[in-house]
Amino acid sequence: MWKQISKKLEPFQYTVWTEFTPLAIKNKAINLGQGFPGFPCPDFVKESLADATNSNENQYSRPQGVPALVEEIARHYGKKHNRVINPMTEVAVTEGATEGLLSAFLSMVDTGDEVVIIDPSFDLYVPQTILAGGIPKLVSLIPPEAGQTKWGVDFEKLEQAFNEKTRVFVINTPHNPLGKMFSSEELQKIAQILEKWPNVAIISDEVYEHIAFNENKHLSLCDFSNLWERTATFSSAGKIFSVTGWKIGWAVGGPEIMRKISTSHLWTTFCSNTTCQGAVARSLRMADNPYMGFPDYYQWIANQYSRKKEILYEILSNTKKFKIEPMEPEGGFFLLGRVNPNDIDPKYLANGSPDFAFCRWMTENLKICAIPCSAFFSPQSKHLGHNFVRFALCKDYSEYEAVARILN
Ligand code: PMP
Ligand code: GLN
Repeated sequence: MWKQISKKLEPFQYTVWTEFTPLAIKNKAINLGQGFPGFPCPDFVKESLADATNSNENQYSRPQGVPALVEEIARHYGKKHNRVINPMTEVAVTEGATEGLLSAFLSMVDTGDEVVIIDPSFDLYVPQTILAGGIPKLVSLIPPEAGQTKWGVDFEKLEQAFNEKTRVFVINTPHNPLGKMFSSEELQKIAQILEKWPNVAIISDEVYEHIAFNENKHLSLCDFSNLWERTATFSSAGKIFSVTGWKIGWAVGGPEIMRKISTSHLWTTFCSNTTCQGAVARSLRMADNPYMGFPDYYQWIANQYSRKKEILYEILSNTKKFKIEPMEPEGGFFLLGRVNPNDIDPKYLANGSPDFAFCRWMTENLKICAIPCSAFFSPQSKHLGHNFVRFALCKDYSEYEAVARILN
């Protein structure tokens, strides 16, 4: 009996990361799978951590975040959202966005409450909703036609998903895994639906906020229809400064919704890593300075991702090793490819869906790891993900050169 995992966790013992990262290591494959940067963080970020350590910022912190960090966050997002943000009441620092999301679900959802989630979704939202006692209501995006890249919103279906039991709506832009960025028209229409449901809280996961390609501009749902008060908008230092292992995330939003998240945080981790919070506070301050010939650090990092997207798109467009249709992402850390599983060793197809078969085959045979997209789709729409695989853009240039040597 003691060996049995709790019933709550029983359905959630597998993650795509715990299969594919070890598979990449075992096969000495280039890991374009899990989205952690393959290059070092900037020197000013390293120096910030050294400074925080040398300043003895080592003990438990204020649970909602150390004052220096919440002040920097309030300053940064005040500019972005064009409003005065109270650092003490409108910011919640969390142990990465992951724990922040869990704290949000735990504090907003009671048993039997419904959570409307756009499908596909980053793999945390559904398990965390269920662990909080909630019922996920998934609304499928409309997949692009062959040769197209745009995933559309079915507003009618979205509207139908809401009812008196709905407590939370979840959106993610730029989207993981699709690379979709919700446009102003889409956010406007979503906001109009939310206006009809004033008791619904909103979780907007914007951890890839700084990575937008071409003419695309990152927009936040909280800036539409006065949704600020009831929206928790998440971001993560892991993504901004390429330090995913530091696990420093945060949410900004109205005082009531922040109070809920911080209350829940008291019972998950109590507070986040103090030294890393100090380092992120310093880094946010320095990120506004000119960097590597760019007006600020954010424009430099966005440019790096844009170049890597172009390099990877080119490599995949020119490969003769398998048929793939690379899809131009609008933003975020990932590029999807539409694959044809008929190209691969049929023995892989015997076990699992075509995208899983393709990624296992590519990792073991070509020594390149990518992530099967159906992992992000709900059971009812899994088939929509079966021909898509996800490649990370957050790796080192040398890793893309190595991929080119294999594929081109
Ligand atoms: N949301 C999305 C969409 C992500 O891709 C990630 C990446 N892990 C997270 C949240 C979690 O962020 P963190 O690493 O700060 O926990
Ligand atoms: N966000 C990362 C990705 O999508 C991985 C997150 C994780 O390992 N939990 O690749």
